[in-house]
Amino acid sequence: MSTHTSVHYQGFHPASAPDFAPVPQMRKLQLDRLNYVVTRAYENVSLFQARLNSRALRPDDIRMLEDIRKLPFTTKADLRDTYPFGLFASKMPEVVRLHASSGTTGKPIVVAYTSEDVGVWTNAMVRCFASCGVNQGDVVQNAYGYGLFTGGLGAHYGAEAIGATVIPISGGNTDRQIMVMKDFCVTAICCTPSYFVHLLERAMELDVDVHSLPLRVGIFGAEPWSESMRRFIESHSSIRAYDIYGLSEIVGPGVGIECSHQNGLHILEDHFYPEIINPETGEPLEEGMEGELVLTTLSKHAMPMIRYRTRDITSLIPEPCPCGRTLRRIRRIARRSDDMIIIRGVNVFASQIEAALLAVEGTLPHYQIILTRSKGLDEMEIQVEVTPDVFSDKIGSMEALNRNLVYALEQALGLRVAIRLVEPRAIQRSEGKAKRVIDRRNMDQ
Ligand SMILES: [Zn+2]
Repeated sequence: MSTHTSVHYQGFHPASAPDFAPVPQMRKLQLDRLNYVVTRAYENVSLFQARLNSRALRPDDIRMLEDIRKLPFTTKADLRDTYPFGLFASKMPEVVRLHASSGTTGKPIVVAYTSEDVGVWTNAMVRCFASCGVNQGDVVQNAYGYGLFTGGLGAHYGAEAIGATVIPISGGNTDRQIMVMKDFCVTAICCTPSYFVHLLERAMELDVDVHSLPLRVGIFGAEPWSESMRRFIESHSSIRAYDIYGLSEIVGPGVGIECSHQNGLHILEDHFYPEIINPETGEPLEEGMEGELVLTTLSKHAMPMIRYRTRDITSLIPEPCPCGRTLRRIRRIARRSDDMIIIRGVNVFASQIEAALLAVEGTLPHYQIILTRSKGLDEMEIQVEVTPDVFSDKIGSMEALNRNLVYALEQALGLRVAIRLVEPRAIQRSEGKAKRVIDRRNMDQ
């Protein structure tokens, strides 16, 4: 029997000092860095230079942080249009790493890092791990995919730099994941929340009691997830489940992280400057108002992103956090503006559906939304897995559950949708991001 004498240094990690910096000092640092990054982009990225010139703007017109609003937005289309290297501000010999997003249509988007950029990213991830109470002495199972996707290497470098023992297991091979989790005395795991639910399920089948393992922290990201999902995970595993935020275009994971209060994600705003805008008009919104998150990288060299439109919908939380971090917080990303399903004129998000489903006893966090069109009308069917108890029970309880779900969804969405209860494991499991929506509306016409 091996021992897991982990040493957990509570609280402060030296790399986390900027998390607690006085606000005026942070704003001054941000302005200095903004000036630097705008000048760098202007001098090295022709698209950015042309856009500033067309507005008769010069980098030295940025005299205070609010002047950022004068600058043009950058969008995902800009990355596609300049594929592969058109937005790089560094020459290739300075670029030490490329990552790419798995584009669903056409070409991926490519992102670049100098060695300094990798250092910034690593530092950001160290602060994220520290914020979740992970430190030297922890054993981190990194089940994010290694490869062009930023999740694997981002978490890897951060976990190693904080001094934890990293297991670079990557995604997939669920039975081996469970064996490693148990035999290597894993204390922290990084993966998508949906994959962790799958791991829990498989562990149960293999008679591994996750509650009795030393595992105590999960750092989950790369897909939106709800508070109901967090409650499900925490009650089925005795871990604390933390939300991490990031996107390849900005750096990868490590843009924002929850703290022990699990109430909003602190943005590492000495590196990533947040704004919230009205997604329709592009106008900045006041703190507390919900809109699209726009991020500017303040310290990146190879690929500065100025006012990048993330399409993630959230708001900045006006109140300071009891943890003492002065970094501003965003509310958990409930939805992405391009993940919106418009059905019969009503806007619906998968996360709304997830929250409504999981609030009803007897369902599992596995569901799929199937969109079809019949006689010109959109139809939505939600397939939901039920617990083995409900499934093996009398037909009566399935019918009652179906009724409850239809009612819960109608309350949440303002829309009556069809529910189909399916047996446990009927919905295909994903090793990375779960596929929640299947849109067959254009196929069925
Ligand atoms: Zn906090």
